[in-house]
Amino acid sequence: MNNLIWFRNDLRIQNNITLKKAIDCSSNLEAVYIIPKDTDWYIGEAAQWYLHKSLISLEKDLLEIGITLNFYREDTAEFFKKKIDQDKIQRIFCTESNNPIQLKIDQEVNKRLPKNCQLSYIGRDTIISPEQIKTNDGGYYKVYTPFWNKFEQFVGQEILESQQCNIPLKKYFNSGEKNTNVLDLKLLPEKDWYKKFDKYWQPGERNSLDNVDKFIQTNLFKYKDHRDFMSDDATAKISAAINFGEISTAALYQRLTQELYSAHESCELSIHTFIKQMAWREFAKYTLFHNSDTYFKSAYSYCDSDVLWNGDDILFELWKTSKTGIPIIDSAMQQLREEGWMHNRSRMIVASFLTKNLGIHWLKGATWFWDSLVDADLALNSMGWQWVAGTAPYSAQFSRIFNPTIQTQKYDKKGDYINKYLPKQNILTTPIVSISDSAYAAKQRYKKIISMK
Ligand SMILES: Cc1cc2nc3c(=O)[nH]c(=O)nc-3n(C[C@H](O)[C@H](O)[C@H](O)COP(=O)(O)OP(=O)(O)OC[C@H]3O[C@@H](n4cnc5c(N)ncnc54)[C@H](O)[C@@H]3O)c2cc1C
Repeated sequence: MNNLIWFRNDLRIQNNITLKKAIDCSSNLEAVYIIPKDTDWYIGEAAQWYLHKSLISLEKDLLEIGITLNFYREDTAEFFKKKIDQDKIQRIFCTESNNPIQLKIDQEVNKRLPKNCQLSYIGRDTIISPEQIKTNDGGYYKVYTPFWNKFEQFVGQEILESQQCNIPLKKYFNSGEKNTNVLDLKLLPEKDWYKKFDKYWQPGERNSLDNVDKFIQTNLFKYKDHRDFMSDDATAKISAAINFGEISTAALYQRLTQELYSAHESCELSIHTFIKQMAWREFAKYTLFHNSDTYFKSAYSYCDSDVLWNGDDILFELWKTSKTGIPIIDSAMQQLREEGWMHNRSRMIVASFLTKNLGIHWLKGATWFWDSLVDADLALNSMGWQWVAGTAPYSAQFSRIFNPTIQTQKYDKKGDYINKYLPKQNILTTPIVSISDSAYAAKQRYKKIISMK
């Protein structure tokens, strides 16, 4: 059978059950990666850089097992129609993604698929499918803790093992026609600010698996106590690898539960904390599936009122360019520009400052993050922003505002993080707003909006 495997966010060989099934069911298999032209949605600039590198690595790994990866920038449904006809394709294998944009594209592909070809979903890009976890009355969870309680019980060996497989490295096929180049996708941004990312990231399955090993050997056991300290470099830094599917989350989750069984008592809490962070990712994907417009709208619609957002473009520009005069904010934004990544605590501090102290809508911040993060993900980014902004049921209340001074005293006591990213000569001495006055004003705006509901 002439078949296709359509790679999306599953850019790996091992533990890729979609690839395994495609190999088992085909006499001829070609791999494709498509940047869809049939949507306004786009991959953020820093993430495009990561994707470019990850695809080069996948292309090489696939070639070793006799599969050619071709790259297209086309209208997806149109592309498949032509390809199926031209190469007599019978099945297209892919990994399910519940991202609302991907779902829409898939719907269109399915609608226009000729009768003699079938689109087969095998794996998925999350541990659970969003319909598997329900409240007792059949609804979905809106808050993380009860979701986690159910998730932890639900995710057993069977679910995890069903998403794993070993693919022996041998030639399965005679490699097919190679008529495209990854450069055809034009993923590298025109500005060359991304060039420095090479210093910080080595995309690709093998490098990412090595990073996981290193993290487990060196930092996992102290994760709980160190993960919040921005200069400790104690987190796994695998978010981009996970989002592009270089790592299987089911395999990682299972490995961690095994570590938990054999760990010394003093390390258990750390491993458990890490597992719970992975479940936050699942919760973000689950939430976006059940509220598919929350990547561009507040989950509480009254929170989109202008009453809440009175900050101007000048303030936004100062936030983006590390010119707020508040060292922790300016260094975090510098980390983002330099590395295409930001520590989770820094993300929370800068997001709180933008939305509450500066009164700027979370979507503007989320859009800036979208273009700047190598790990930009629709579900995690919008949940992160709405969680901090207080615009959704799963969020901290609007009245909870991160005070940058207190956060610095707690999580960057010696100033190592600030010194690393903000050379002394770049520290502005006058903050663009008074932290206490702007926090007070934010609470007043929120009270006003509640009274108008
Ligand atoms: C405003 C804001 C925006 C964010 N935008 C994104 C985004 O676009 N893409 C993204 O991957 N993450 C996002 N996050 C979540 C989190 O900051 C990153 O996943 C984390 O910093 C990645 O670093 P790490 O791999 O070292 O994490 P670790 O601490 O080592 O955690 C391991 C993995 O668990 C998951 N995880 C950890 N923390 C969270 C969290 N708070 N929410 C959801 N999943 C989590 C990630 O997959 C992460 O790679 C955002 C958080 C905030 C507050």
